Amino acid sequence: MKNNPGFNTLAIHAGAAPDPSTGARATPIYQTTSFVFNDADHAASLFGLQAFGNIYTRIMNPTQAVLEERVAALEGGTAALAVASGHAAQLLVFHAIMSPGDNFLAARQLYGGSVNQFGNAFKSFDWRVRWVDTADIASFESQIDERTKAIFIESLANPGGTFVDIAGISAVARKHGLPLIVDNTMATPYLIRPIEHGADIIVHSLTKFMGGHGNSMGGVIVDGGTFDWSKSGKYPILSEPRPEYAGMVLHATFGNFAFAIACRVLGLRDFGPAISPFNAFLLLTGIETLPLRMQRHCDNALAVATWLGTHDKVAWVNYAGLESNANHGLQQKYAPKGAGAVFTFGLKGGYEAGKRFVEGLEMVSHLANIGDTRSLVIHPASTTHRQLTEEQQTAAGAGPEVVRLSVGIEDISDIIADLEQSLAKV
Ligand SMILES: *Cc1c(COP(=O)(O)O)cnc(C)c1O
Repeated sequence: MKNNPGFNTLAIHAGAAPDPSTGARATPIYQTTSFVFNDADHAASLFGLQAFGNIYTRIMNPTQAVLEERVAALEGGTAALAVASGHAAQLLVFHAIMSPGDNFLAARQLYGGSVNQFGNAFKSFDWRVRWVDTADIASFESQIDERTKAIFIESLANPGGTFVDIAGISAVARKHGLPLIVDNTMATPYLIRPIEHGADIIVHSLTKFMGGHGNSMGGVIVDGGTFDWSKSGKYPILSEPRPEYAGMVLHATFGNFAFAIACRVLGLRDFGPAISPFNAFLLLTGIETLPLRMQRHCDNALAVATWLGTHDKVAWVNYAGLESNANHGLQQKYAPKGAGAVFTFGLKGGYEAGKRFVEGLEMVSHLANIGDTRSLVIHPASTTHRQLTEEQQTAAGAGPEVVRLSVGIEDISDIIADLEQSLAKV
């Protein structure tokens, strides 16, 4: 490849080459648990981290390695680590950063599963989350103290489809010497490359738009190579000698990809959420068409949002791609190619109308996922948010009348026809 290949080219070629032993052009599925050493010295150097190479598929696998190199290239990072799911990626990131009693700031506007992971599961490690409102960046500083270790946001927040001022939040993180971690699942690097706006670490649920076909779970951590981990004492996993690696100091040995190494040789090695070679292969195949799919997702979503805005049973439409939307300015700044495919709208008929609408759809699937080629829908108040009070539902953007769509890449006329016939029955 020439220097500086474009995004479409990277989506297809980054990390991959014809298989040297067979000539296979597509990346093979290396469905093996383990790899033969050349000799005893080679084995010793692999275990001591003096040489890079495959040992055991829990830690590294050649199919997984192509996926890692490809996502790192698309995000503009120095290295990446692919794992079993988006939540596994988040767990390994925080494991490399946090000690018991530490805290981190996280946007209130997050995927519901992340709210549970941070607010509930992380308590077992005594990692404490402090929720912040991304629309009020000035309020972040009062929450930061000497035990604060990171700031976590979504570049395009689920479920409302809200864009966030990444550069503004990065300025706060830099001022306080904290890494900015960005979940880029909903935007994908096709729409936003957060490292260019000051993010230090990217996480993805590859399960969604990156894989794009609703058939495989996966997650990834991308190291931006931008953060200085040497600050004494603050990030001991990166800055203190590691006894199991003969006193090696990870940031000193691995420099601008030390974070990705720490997540692999400590987090993935010890917690074990490895991605299967088969899933890595399916996700890689999906990523080859990411630019084409994302553009069609965005174009279809804009057309659906525009059409819904004119429908007499629809109370409101919240899509940042619409010029009338309060978030449109941030969308134009950060994601001029499109506003993503996930957004919410409200039905005048409230809770019952929402339930009836999702039941009346024929092509659009009623389920709890986003980022599939297929159009997907959910009524949060009767499903994902049903345990909350009506007040809490409304605060989370999931009031009784709210419907969330993840617009697929079918013909736009067929998507609108399905929505129309179901709205007619409401
Ligand atoms: C789905 C999702 C996750 C979690 O990913 P899994 O692959 O389901 O573990 C995290 N963040 C966002 C924005 C998501 O949509």
